[in-house]
Amino acid sequence: MGTGLTDAPLIGITTSELRRPENAPPILHGEPPGTELALGLSYPSAVLQAGAIPVILAPLPDSRDAPILERLDGLLLSGGPDIHPHAYGQEPDPQLGVTEQRLDGWELALTRRALTSGLPVLGVCRGLQVLNVAAGGTLHQHLPDVVGEAINHRQSAPGSEPTHTVEVEPGTRLAELLGTGTADVNSFHHQAIDRLGEGIRVSARAPDSTIEAIDWVGGPSAAFALGVQWHLESLIAGRPEQLALLTALVDAARAARDRGARMAA
Ligand code: MN
Repeated sequence: MGTGLTDAPLIGITTSELRRPENAPPILHGEPPGTELALGLSYPSAVLQAGAIPVILAPLPDSRDAPILERLDGLLLSGGPDIHPHAYGQEPDPQLGVTEQRLDGWELALTRRALTSGLPVLGVCRGLQVLNVAAGGTLHQHLPDVVGEAINHRQSAPGSEPTHTVEVEPGTRLAELLGTGTADVNSFHHQAIDRLGEGIRVSARAPDSTIEAIDWVGGPSAAFALGVQWHLESLIAGRPEQLALLTALVDAARAARDRGARMAA
């Protein structure tokens, strides 16, 4: 085909947001009103840029969707609304945002299956939180109540503009990719990790101590599972170090495929 992608790894991208008909004005001659998937085009676009073929995964909480994982080489957990706190054994805080419990269950199950089988995973924003909850961790339901508002973690500036720094922990996989010291990131979250899940370690923090990136070290040494609280897919233009995080997922996916480490049926 001349695209250079015929042998490229397949990266599944979870859809973690749904749009109800009452929140989606109908388009003339468009689809009849119904619940729709909402996923920024920046995710598949970034995956393609990193050298893989993006596969959009629909949140169907049905075991019949499991076989798709066997055909994927890696998983990108996208950003989206809050995870319902019942997923980590807590009751909703008054500041909790919109949630989709059935979707949470689907994405958490998918993530656990990926971790168990060694499928490389990268979590972005909510995706980092999904990784932590899948590993048995908990979240702060409303971050300003915990760290105050000296740093605005819900920026109004565009995603292409970093608004706070993070300090990268030496000796982590993130440090290999971003370098140690500080990195500039964007910020579109009001929740963050509270208690770390099993096998999860912190790889970057904001100056107010908010956990901004994690590595999962609970699996075999070759396993690749990391999460970032920022939206790297909006930062890759002109920032090769952010694209490098995605390229690392694609490289790990290719390596896992070549090892025959695809998910067993
Ligand atoms: Mn932040």
